[in-house]
Amino acid sequence: KRRIFLPHLQKMEETYIMIKPDGVQRGLVGEIISRFEKKGFKMTGLKLFKCPQELAEEHYKDLNSKPFFPKLIGYITSGPVVCMAWEGDGVVASARKLIGATNPLQAEPGTIRGDLAVQTGRNVVHGSDSPENGKREIALWFKEGELCEWTPAQAPWLLE
Ligand code: GDP
Ligand code: MG
Repeated sequence: KRRIFLPHLQKMEETYIMIKPDGVQRGLVGEIISRFEKKGFKMTGLKLFKCPQELAEEHYKDLNSKPFFPKLIGYITSGPVVCMAWEGDGVVASARKLIGATNPLQAEPGTIRGDLAVQTGRNVVHGSDSPENGKREIALWFKEGELCEWTPAQAPWLLE
């Protein structure tokens, strides 16, 4: 039997992307989502959500000894965030490139932070820093049943 490899049907790398409260308040939700959409990644989860304190602390637990940690938790819980799961080959590193450097003043023009933000403490978007953290963060922010398995109609035009 001939086996045909269909890349768009395989489970690929996943990342957790989140539009932070400043991105929502500033009306940048559509702009930010469209950058990932146009690139060609596949969205598998999306919700508007008010993040409880404990979830923010768990998400950023690696930073809990930093002096800015209380401010960071205050910022993330200050209003609704947009939680997203995205899938694609190399999506973790590519999304970090699309997002740009942590400090928006150092982020390249053309990146989300480079184009749309000025301060580290208001840098509009989060992206997982490794495939392991991508899985961990998606499991943390989404319940089972909130994620969607689907095949975009454009898949064969993006993936050979
Ligand atoms: P990221 O992976 O590029 O988001 O950066 P980090 O993982 O190093 O930090 C997580 C988040 O903490 C950043 O996106 C900022 O929102 C916040 N943060 C990091 N460093 C600072 C800082 O020095 N001051 C403030 N106020 N926030 C910071
Ligand atoms: Mg990080």
